[in-house]
Amino acid sequence: MTEARIARVALPGPLDELFDYLPGVMGQPEPGTRVLVPFGRSRRVGILVEYAAECGCDPSRLKPVERALDPRPLFGPTDLTLIRWAARYYRHPLGDALFTALPVRLRESGPLLASGVAGIRLTAAGAALTPAELARAPRQQALLARLLESPEGLAQRNLADELGGITSALRALRAKGLVESCRLEPGAVASADSSAVLAAPELNPEQAAALAAVSEALGGFRPFLLDGITGSGKTEVYIRAIAEVVAAGGQALVMVPEIGLTPQLRERFRTRLPGPLAVLHSALAAGERERAWHQAASGEAPVVLGTRSAVFVPLPRLALIVVDEEHDPSLKQQEGFRYSARDLAVRRAQLVGCPVVLGTATPALETLHNVTAGRYHRLALPRRAGGARPPTINLLDIRNQPLRAGLSPVLRERMHAALATGGQVLLLLNRRGYAPVLTCHSCGWVGVCPDCDARMTLHLGERRLWCHHCGRIESVPRDCPQCGGPDLRMLGRGTERLEEGLTELFPGVRIARIDRDSTRRKGELTRLLAAVHRGEVQILLGTQMLAKGHDFPGVTLAGVIDLDHALYASDFRAPERTAQLIVQVAGRAGRAERAGEVVLQTRHPEHPLLQSLLREGYGGFARAALAEREAAQLPPFTYLALLRAEAPEQEAALAFLAAARAHAEPLCSPEVELLGPVPAPLSRRAGRHRAQLLVQCAQRPALQHFLAHWTPTLRALRRIKGVRWSLDVDPQEM
Ligand code: ADP
Ligand code: ZN
Ligand code: ZN
Repeated sequence: MTEARIARVALPGPLDELFDYLPGVMGQPEPGTRVLVPFGRSRRVGILVEYAAECGCDPSRLKPVERALDPRPLFGPTDLTLIRWAARYYRHPLGDALFTALPVRLRESGPLLASGVAGIRLTAAGAALTPAELARAPRQQALLARLLESPEGLAQRNLADELGGITSALRALRAKGLVESCRLEPGAVASADSSAVLAAPELNPEQAAALAAVSEALGGFRPFLLDGITGSGKTEVYIRAIAEVVAAGGQALVMVPEIGLTPQLRERFRTRLPGPLAVLHSALAAGERERAWHQAASGEAPVVLGTRSAVFVPLPRLALIVVDEEHDPSLKQQEGFRYSARDLAVRRAQLVGCPVVLGTATPALETLHNVTAGRYHRLALPRRAGGARPPTINLLDIRNQPLRAGLSPVLRERMHAALATGGQVLLLLNRRGYAPVLTCHSCGWVGVCPDCDARMTLHLGERRLWCHHCGRIESVPRDCPQCGGPDLRMLGRGTERLEEGLTELFPGVRIARIDRDSTRRKGELTRLLAAVHRGEVQILLGTQMLAKGHDFPGVTLAGVIDLDHALYASDFRAPERTAQLIVQVAGRAGRAERAGEVVLQTRHPEHPLLQSLLREGYGGFARAALAEREAAQLPPFTYLALLRAEAPEQEAALAFLAAARAHAEPLCSPEVELLGPVPAPLSRRAGRHRAQLLVQCAQRPALQHFLAHWTPTLRALRRIKGVRWSLDVDPQEM
């Protein structure tokens, strides 16, 4: 008797349910395969998710799957389980979650790339030759010598990585009939030589202990926090652990918040680990991205380095996951499918049964809480690798101080001293543009964005007013638009203005500015960073981009121009983010032989956060902050979900949320609390009014249970014209 099987298929788009089909006559593809199915009057590409014994309807009305589009599944069983789990946890339509995890071309019916990779091998004539016979063509000789070592052939890309430009040498050898093309199966791709790994520095005892803990855990699930100050050698530990995994035939996944900002990290991975390295991030062209995805999914690439979305890339031999800068909020997707790549990395490791290493100098409070609760195992690297000394941190009270270009006399004096001894200076000002406010001195007019509750920032270089919230651009008025008066003044200071001021205060000193404006051109950031590394820049100023994982060994003084802005933000996570920023900036100073110095300018030197940070470091700050969170019953001691709504009218947004609340109340168990609706902190943005309703719960399962019942009612709510809404589980920004 044959089992009546129903094929359950996910379709792209905001569809929560799976669609049932008869398996069809083309054999039974495995779950994870793309299938072509009839849908209404058309056909669609879907992903076969599972087989079921029966469906809720009359099977005779089901249509059959037309055909499978792939010779083998694109997603393995754990890949599918992970995405299904994530879609459920973050209340996102499964079809959309699955399809966004695929390269663009595969979301349509495009075929998979040919399996295997382009390789080169010697012909019989080539194998009979000795390299000495090619002495007059050194490149051909090198190529021949390398190919003689690997009779099964070598990947063309690896050869190019290893030997540099090989195109003409290859053409010549081909013309002589000495080499030929072949296709290599992913498993057979010989890795680049591993001598670089051996040339690595000797680990200090803490690094060695951390590495030993991770390698002992290989083969089973174990989450680690690698808690190490900047420069303590975390990356070195990742590299060693990855090398071990790769040598044993496994794959490693390394996730970072932003790849564009850390070309150095990519280079280190490329040169220290056997390749090919698959790099995955959203700034790649679709074709590059697809090739990297394929290298990962086919198992050809042993190491995958990627941003958030890489957490979903299929990896058949996954044996280790690393999340670097695990505290960084950009690991949480802020629109559409709002998942936390860090949390999913831990979930994925659990499903696969492998260790996951969360590395940072400033652990998220959630992560520290997981350590305290015994769920994560902490590995500490308390000192700088290679003997560099940690910097001293000084609070500088700037009340009543004469500031020039925003710099107090003490900071200016410290800068001169650092420059005089050949050090580099790093200045952080977390505000881009020239001035955050343009105002009329006669009537008090202020340049505000007509579409947002926000001021327009003056960008002098581009001669325009720019809204940083909606992107609106206006030209700079010559005279006051309100009274016609000529006395328009710029208040406050952004990085552009700071740069101008520094040029005046430090004549002849070479200055580089790094922010989103100055690095918009492709390759510009890499160029600036390289100039800093070559010592061609003496003062480096910029926004928090500077605090993101760059390595500035020449910096001996780091200054934070204006801390107060961050101290008094409305989000309950503001203190945590501020402390992280300070510690990250401090980590950039004094990495080499010289001890560094950090100067924080503030008008609130007594602020308890600053005090705990100064006296007890990040660990002490985190303990204090966690105690506050516990007293206030905030995460990680409770769990949140935020329902956001926006509409052209504030009333519409609030009305939607009120209706949502009415549907929620009967579903609430006693531990689920509803707060709101209230207008959002930036209540008007891009011409739309925003409001929110917060759901808070002491237990994650109870919150999940509530959300599972509530979200369908939200989808079924009567449409209010113009209202758009979204649900954010574990929101990072409030
Ligand atoms: P992190 O990732 O914690 O910032 P890195 O791994 O980048 O630290 O190490 C900081 C610097 O110290 C790098 O230049 C690295 O090559 C060097 N380094 C790391 N470990 C050692 C070691 N055991 N001995 C000497 N130098 C080391
Ligand atoms: Zn005016
Ligand atoms: Zn705006």
